[in-house]
Amino acid sequence: MGVDRGRAAWRGRHLGAPNLTQTGAKLVRGAETLHPFTNFAHAKRAQTGANCGPGVEVLHPFTNFAHAKRTGTAPARRHDGTVGARELAKLEAELVDCRACPRLVEWRERVAREKRAAFRDETYWGRPVPGFGPADARMLIVGLAPAAHGANRTGRMFTGDRSGDVLYAALHAVGLASQPTALRIGDGLELYGTRITAPVHCAPPDNKPTPEERDNCRTWLEAELPLLAPTLRTIVVLGGFGWQALLPVLANAGWQVPRPRPKFGHGVRVPLTGPRPIEVFGCYHVSQQNTFTGRLTPAMLEDVLAAAADAAEIQRPAGAG
Ligand code: SF4
Repeated sequence: MGVDRGRAAWRGRHLGAPNLTQTGAKLVRGAETLHPFTNFAHAKRAQTGANCGPGVEVLHPFTNFAHAKRTGTAPARRHDGTVGARELAKLEAELVDCRACPRLVEWRERVAREKRAAFRDETYWGRPVPGFGPADARMLIVGLAPAAHGANRTGRMFTGDRSGDVLYAALHAVGLASQPTALRIGDGLELYGTRITAPVHCAPPDNKPTPEERDNCRTWLEAELPLLAPTLRTIVVLGGFGWQALLPVLANAGWQVPRPRPKFGHGVRVPLTGPRPIEVFGCYHVSQQNTFTGRLTPAMLEDVLAAAADAAEIQRPAGAG
């Protein structure tokens, strides 16, 4: 699927979904943690200060490219000189206003209002969480959905929860992240050649999106993938949900996905031909359910990440796992 078709698809799907900025909602200034994205019109409106969404304080969006580059959210231009990063930033700016799934909108905002006691002094993000990492990534990690008090709180994928602790520690161990911890936007974390996204961008109750919500959100992945395709070489899918969500997107985007579709499994590798050859890797999800029980160990995770990084020909520091 071409970029225009992809964008047209999600525009069509999300047309009519209330847009916070269009409804006159306001954005709060002065939040301690800022969320970098680059919708100039939105950001300009935000600078007037105000509230966004019913009873939900949200963080202040802005357009500081230097900061965005540091945090990895709106990265540098692509190797091939296109303006993919700018397109990706626009897509993210649209995404964070999405309200297409009523159940998830209600849940993400309720969690943001009520908060967990340990985070009661924090301002939750409480909105769709965009992908994290450079637009010219060679490797994409596809998870499931933001955690209620993790990414739904911090506004960055896998940031601020136990799953993220495991994932970023492994990414750092294999030379794909600048540091092993992910606490908040602006903590200095940078990803190397790697981007993280999700098939569902809003926190679902019990970490279980419905099939309808998965299908709603697929349009965002369908729009994101063509923007990443010029440099993308490998995709690591964390868990069966992401696997089931991703394969149809790849097929629609022109990759030759075998029938019957390859089954998810830890360590599974599926090379696909299409617009460009890519290889899809299966990996157990980094949920506590898997990591606490030893179903997924740090070594198992690092092995998959390192193999996918090498297949993508990402240069990693000597001695990295
Ligand atoms: S889950 Fe996806 S489609 Fe549904 S409201 Fe969130 S961003 Fe929109």
